[in-house]
Amino acid sequence: MQSLSELTTMRVGGKPAQIISAQTREDLIEATLEIWRTGEDWLLLGGGSNLVVADDVSDLNVIKVETKGIQAFTSAGGNKTLLRIQAGENWDDFVNHTIDLGLAGVEAMAGIPGTVGAGPVQNIGAYGQELSDTFVRLEFVDYETHEVGILDKADLQFGYRDSVIKRGRAGLITWVELELESFGGLSAPITSGQIAGAFGVNLGDQLPLREVAESVRKMRASKGMLLSDSDPDSVSCGSFFTNPIVSHTFARTLPELSPRWETLEDDGLTVKLSAAWLIENSGIKKGFSVPGSKAAISSKHCLAITNRGGASANEVVQLANYVQLQVSNRFGITLVPEPNLIGF
Ligand SMILES: Cc1cc2nc3c(=O)[nH]c(=O)nc-3n(C[C@H](O)[C@H](O)[C@H](O)COP(=O)(O)OP(=O)(O)OC[C@H]3O[C@@H](n4cnc5c(N)ncnc54)[C@H](O)[C@@H]3O)c2cc1C
Repeated sequence: MQSLSELTTMRVGGKPAQIISAQTREDLIEATLEIWRTGEDWLLLGGGSNLVVADDVSDLNVIKVETKGIQAFTSAGGNKTLLRIQAGENWDDFVNHTIDLGLAGVEAMAGIPGTVGAGPVQNIGAYGQELSDTFVRLEFVDYETHEVGILDKADLQFGYRDSVIKRGRAGLITWVELELESFGGLSAPITSGQIAGAFGVNLGDQLPLREVAESVRKMRASKGMLLSDSDPDSVSCGSFFTNPIVSHTFARTLPELSPRWETLEDDGLTVKLSAAWLIENSGIKKGFSVPGSKAAISSKHCLAITNRGGASANEVVQLANYVQLQVSNRFGITLVPEPNLIGF
């Protein structure tokens, strides 16, 4: 039996009670329902890139989602294509596939690790694109009712790195449907200042799809945000904390230099802050670790906690707690972890 440290990008986590792999939609639903009926602890595992699993999880039943398949349906009369992707497809492979098809809408999310099925859970996003931009619907097996149904965009209540599933509506995603658009090999209009800057173009311009994806992968690699065996800074969950969203009134209490972006949330106009800036300016530098710990802040980016080799899950969580305490003491903001913490 493998430990979860071998199946997660943070490389922490003990041996579970069992790991069941499912390669077809039917097997996935069957295996999941079977475990739910026992009432025991369970975990759906995709690529393990957004999980911090505790060192002792001997009671946990793991269902590993390995279902594959992509179907394309061309929308009537147009340049839009609906794609149904099985949950176990690798996200970055899927992005490459869409580029081969000349379809735009996810190219700026190239290089995000993990599976397609986990994408809606936290509404993955990067460089100006979010999954919710192209999301249409998904198939969902509800943990409460054990029923198989369809959830559409309104049901998912997507937010920044957030969805109704992340907020606690437990269940299994078997497939996801996204609608992408063809602009004759060009990307969707650029909404990321970093991409626009890299190419010397304006926001709203369009660029060749493949070039956008390649440039994003390069930017990611320079920040340790692209999985690579040769980059110890990528032994992580990516960003460990979400960017805090605060009121205008609160934002005015922060140093003027602190980066901020206006965002429109359900409860009105709010301000999104940079978690990385808050961490760095609370006195935690890149590469920082608690003395004796094998968990450390990435040497390339303050927002990632990395395993420098043999760290325990407790060491990762201890460092995360330390970061939260420093930021809270300095700025009065409690950073919210982005990865899912299992078994703590
Ligand atoms: C180097 C690095 C960079 C990253 N960069 C980004 C980024 O730019 N943007 C971003 O948004 N994220 C980023 N992440 C986080 C991560 O890649 C995403 O959250 C990704 O969607 C997780 O996919 P996964 O298959 O690995 O999910 P897992 O880690 O296996 O699971 C994550 C959660 O989803 C649940 N889940 C998984 N599959 C299913 C399913 N089929 N049905 C229901 N629930 C399911 C799990 O139970 C768990 O709660 C990064 C991570 C790393 C390591």
